[in-house]
Amino acid sequence: MFKGGVVEGFTYFCRDFISKVVADIQKIHMVDLRGQYEKIKEEVLQGIQKVIEDTAFIQGPDVQAFAEELATWNEVRYVIPCANGTDALQIALMALDLQPGDEVIVPAFTYVATAEVIGLLRLVPVLVPVDPDTFNLDVAYLEAALSPKTKAIVPVHLFGQSAYMEPILDFAKKHGLFVVEDNAQAIGAQYRFADGRCFKTGAMGHIGCTSFFPSKNLGCYGDGGALMTNDPQLAEKIKMIANHGQQKKYYHEILGVNSRLDTVQAAVLRVKLRHLDTYCAQRQAAAARYDAYLSGCADVQLPVRAPYSTHVFHQYTLKISGGRRDALKNFLQERGIPTMVYYPVPLQNQNAFREICKTPTSLEVCNKLCQEVLSLPMHTELSQEQQEFISDNIFSFFKK
Ligand SMILES: *Cc1c(COP(=O)(O)O)cnc(C)c1O
Repeated sequence: MFKGGVVEGFTYFCRDFISKVVADIQKIHMVDLRGQYEKIKEEVLQGIQKVIEDTAFIQGPDVQAFAEELATWNEVRYVIPCANGTDALQIALMALDLQPGDEVIVPAFTYVATAEVIGLLRLVPVLVPVDPDTFNLDVAYLEAALSPKTKAIVPVHLFGQSAYMEPILDFAKKHGLFVVEDNAQAIGAQYRFADGRCFKTGAMGHIGCTSFFPSKNLGCYGDGGALMTNDPQLAEKIKMIANHGQQKKYYHEILGVNSRLDTVQAAVLRVKLRHLDTYCAQRQAAAARYDAYLSGCADVQLPVRAPYSTHVFHQYTLKISGGRRDALKNFLQERGIPTMVYYPVPLQNQNAFREICKTPTSLEVCNKLCQEVLSLPMHTELSQEQQEFISDNIFSFFKK
């Protein structure tokens, strides 16, 4: 009886343990916003409830409060919230008084929004290659991209790491160009100049743009975005453009758009901003674990850390050469491990861009990256067990 009881108990314990492990492993998501929410639920619900009870839905006090808190956190003078990251980029370019036909230099390997707004404003996206290790704009090609019509550069801090800003800013200064940072993926990353000065991404160019899309490092529960700048005149102009070109209600000085951050989203963001340092650290810790688990795997190239930037790992992106990327993706998918290809098609091969972009140099490096990149699950809730399971399966694939 006693013996049977122990064995039975042990059997149940094992079954329970295994099912818990399996459940844990089954719950691997690219992004786990539910798990993150559970930890801040009280704060978030209180914030949202207050907005509703005050019926402060549009431009409520949380919007301005959030703007000020983000400015402090990001070490920049002005933050102007808007409706999403794409709007932020569009408003930034509108604020620079560019003329149709003016050229804007932009990396060919990025999310479509970066270049889409350039085309929408009848400006010309001039596509340049990226560095195949950092995935960011390759400054060696700036000179070749320059023409008398060049007016601006939009570097993208892709996957959570700053673009090589010092040479970009020097080049821009030398040629009188604006710099608009696309910081949708790297909020919190820090760039170090050769003289030791450090700046957070988004605070170095004339204007920085970011997105609060839910899966971004600072994400709200819907759409949201913001612009940031240290220039008081640009800040005023941006504010006007985002608000129908008016400073005084019903008096419209310039053509603008309607692009606001909802107060409910601002309330969520105020809570999440208080945790953003922790979120960055959690992503970095998860990245360090992947590095450790996967370092012996000769068939994958791990993310490269640039010496001039910290990395906040919006994505943890591997490179798989030899044409095996898609097979690995499928192999992992069959084992319950989601992965994503950011991005499968470079801008120069997108139908929307073929006719309107300029490509002064070969973009073969971007074509190749699109065949090789694979982003693993990366978020604040990723557990050591999940990452071991993911890494073990990557090893198994290559041992086949
Ligand atoms: C997400 C993203 C955007 C656009 O942000 P939305 O809020 O989705 O409009 C722009 N650029 C990059 C690089 C992004 O990752």
